[in-house]
Amino acid sequence: MTVGIVGAGQLGRMLALAGYPLGLEFLFLDKDAATPGAQLAPSLTGSFTDPKLLDELARRSEVVTFDWENVPVEALDRIAKGTRIAPPRDALATAQDRLAEKALFQQLRIPTNAHRAVASLTELEAAVQAIGLPGVLKSRRLGYDGKGQAVLRERKDIEAAWATLAGQPLIYEEFVPFDYEVSLIGVRSTSGEVATYPLNRNLHREGVLRLTRAPWHAPAVEAAAKRYLRKVLAHFDYVGVLAIEFFVRRGKLIANEMAPRVHNSGHWTIEGAVTSQFENHLRAILGLPLGDTSAIGHSAMLNLIGEMPPRAALLADKSLFLHDYGKQPRPGRKLGHVTVSETTARRRDLRAAALLKRIESRKI
Ligand code: AMP
Repeated sequence: MTVGIVGAGQLGRMLALAGYPLGLEFLFLDKDAATPGAQLAPSLTGSFTDPKLLDELARRSEVVTFDWENVPVEALDRIAKGTRIAPPRDALATAQDRLAEKALFQQLRIPTNAHRAVASLTELEAAVQAIGLPGVLKSRRLGYDGKGQAVLRERKDIEAAWATLAGQPLIYEEFVPFDYEVSLIGVRSTSGEVATYPLNRNLHREGVLRLTRAPWHAPAVEAAAKRYLRKVLAHFDYVGVLAIEFFVRRGKLIANEMAPRVHNSGHWTIEGAVTSQFENHLRAILGLPLGDTSAIGHSAMLNLIGEMPPRAALLADKSLFLHDYGKQPRPGRKLGHVTVSETTARRRDLRAAALLKRIESRKI
């Protein structure tokens, strides 16, 4: 049985790695031939909007999913003429536009920060007037890992931010002086079965995830996050894995964004949960029973960004799990991750802090 995956990055690769023990086969579609996914499974190479390739992917796949958030929705619509797609295209369309995403949060009574669409310098000035400073000007579409964003601290920042980002649909939003950031990952299958993973606490630098620790013990925060995630799953009659990222301020959640796919903050589940997010995504989209989302121990996942530390130096740590995505190094690029597991949250936190320091100061 073949699962088609649009996008053959590290997420697609980890989906394939999780699917082989279940006896599944994979077929990727990506614009590049040399991808993390193509090292594992056959890949169709060409434009995401090439009807011939989309039709071939649909013809050869039981179900088609995607590993990239910026897949054109039209591509999914074309594939849907030939086979099933999951997660639903409306969830992807919503996640592709920060304004639509925030409108959904409001509609479902999920708290989010103040924001306004901005299409001109005058509108930006009016938005700053209404929402206040500091704030963040962001591209509404094609933003990821903090790209296409500018923080405005004073009125004099308005013009520079406008000059950097103008020429595309924008959103101005309130800067949240959060205490910390969390995400919650859940999964819903074709039969409507829902499961959620334990809460993740996330550390970002320059908009890019560096460290996730899970389970993060914050029962009230976790309960609210689960409630909100279930609302979004139900709203879309969702199938597959969904992640929502939140800011936490004074114990209250503020939704930042959602990702209709397996998520970087869930990589720890490969070794740190009974069933990984990747396997559960496949189970969900194939209508199989979901696996147990319980944590095993206390995990920390650290991204390896820009440059790969020497493999031997990482593996000298006998209880560390290394994932190398097989990518060419480039500044800011996610090349791999490591996961460690401990018997208590405190031991995990100490180890995570030490590892983060060593990785960031290139002492590993
Ligand atoms: P995003 O691409 O929206 O997920 O932003 C990436 C990261 O930038 C977030 O995880 C935060 O660390 C930071 N960030 C984004 N928007 C805001 C905001 N409105 N207030 C404070 N920090 C933000």
